[in-house]
Amino acid sequence: MNQPEREAPSLLLSAEERAKLWSVLGETIEQYVAGIRALPVSTEPEPEAVRALLRGFDFSRPMAAEEAIRLVADALARTQVHTPHPRYYGLFNPTPTTVGIAADALVAAFNPQLAAWKHNPFAVEAERHVIRELGSQFGYDRAQTTGVMTSGGSEANHTALLAALWSAFPELDAGGLRAVGAQPVFYVSAESHHSFHKASRMCGLGSKALREIPVDAELRMETSALEAAIREDRKHGFAPFLVVGTAGTTNAGSIDPLGEIAAITKRENLWFHTDAAWGGAAALVPELRPALEGIDSADSITLDAHKWLSVPMGAGIFLTRHREILEKTFHISAAYVPPQAAGIEAADPYGSSMHWSRRFIGLKILLSLAVAGWDGYAQTIRAMTKMGEELRAKLGAAGWEVVNRTPLPICCFRDGQARQASADDLETLVREVVASGQAWISTTRVRGSVPVLRACITSYRTDSDDLDLLVSSLNRARAKLGARATKRARVEA
Ligand SMILES: *Cc1c(COP(=O)(O)O)cnc(C)c1O
Repeated sequence: MNQPEREAPSLLLSAEERAKLWSVLGETIEQYVAGIRALPVSTEPEPEAVRALLRGFDFSRPMAAEEAIRLVADALARTQVHTPHPRYYGLFNPTPTTVGIAADALVAAFNPQLAAWKHNPFAVEAERHVIRELGSQFGYDRAQTTGVMTSGGSEANHTALLAALWSAFPELDAGGLRAVGAQPVFYVSAESHHSFHKASRMCGLGSKALREIPVDAELRMETSALEAAIREDRKHGFAPFLVVGTAGTTNAGSIDPLGEIAAITKRENLWFHTDAAWGGAAALVPELRPALEGIDSADSITLDAHKWLSVPMGAGIFLTRHREILEKTFHISAAYVPPQAAGIEAADPYGSSMHWSRRFIGLKILLSLAVAGWDGYAQTIRAMTKMGEELRAKLGAAGWEVVNRTPLPICCFRDGQARQASADDLETLVREVVASGQAWISTTRVRGSVPVLRACITSYRTDSDDLDLLVSSLNRARAKLGARATKRARVEA
């Protein structure tokens, strides 16, 4: 039978349909926010089951907007690792700020194009305001601070590499890397983020331009090894141009000796970048700030607002105290751009970043800061740090051995009894915990080889009961693993 011909719906939808959509959207979001504790932190759906959820989307049969929203919300709720869950102890993905969720919707509606100042002076100035204010939290001079909002820390680190290159080798601008006499090289710690490997390749430097400096017992860059590496490289005709210090490593939350690195880079005339993607938020808490000592000397800083500042993804920031460097690196002009507005103090955004059209990333940061205030953030970050201390204590009391030392809320740990547990055993433990739906944790390797369990406080909603649930779930998994090992031993005997 033929379907009755339906008029193609307009992209705008009718006033009634819009009203219905906004209310369903609001309810759906509220239901998720209010009901998240009742959900398992993750499920492990089969790929085929996930694809089956998409069969409801047949583009030859348009559906009502609110029905589409419901379908998607249901599919996400059933399949995703719930990173906003209070018992997601994972990879720095936060519970998003409520006002940040609203900000992202508002941005989509106004859809500002952040290439030219004249098109969206408020949006551009709002981001500059946020950048200067955050810079001042790191001890930067507001008047000198500039930067760019990015998709995340990876792009901010890529930007840092480019800025450092353009600062050291202006001849690159016209002649490319072949115009640089020597092979540029740069230094990161062995515990640094993998984005530098990618960025090195994307900058055309190749992976060998990245020098991994060994770390000490606390997983911090060995500065004597750094100095030796720079000396060796210079002796062999390489051209060092950058040192990256990490403030809060992804594995274990360790903080490189930023002050010492600052002194070395100053003496050696190298760019000093601090990757504070996650840990940088500690600058907002007076008693944690000393842990970042030296960061004010960094030439540039990566801060991910979508990590510990709990802003929805993606919200990375590249900050620098060199006002001219971004324009020097990304300068360009295009005939179709409206002429520069008179009296503005910096170039159009498109001439000082990788982007042309870009989303108004800064609004969710501006509104999150506006609504919580510095004090609200300090309290939140302090409380999460306390949860980290409490987790360390609870793990210790249950016979788990925490092997990393950091003021930040990440625990790397192993079974205090079975210290030599294999990576496979740890994977089994993690699978048990994750399959229980009680919590989400992971494994990692510190020092590139030692397998450990890793739990990080990433949600501002995590409380003591949540920690107890994690530890009891770990204990159960350990008991099960132990029982299995005993059985295996008996069979073998
Ligand atoms: C997360 C992280 C990054 C990468 O940031 P994305 O936003 O995920 O691209 C870089 N460095 C460190 C230290 C990180 O923790």
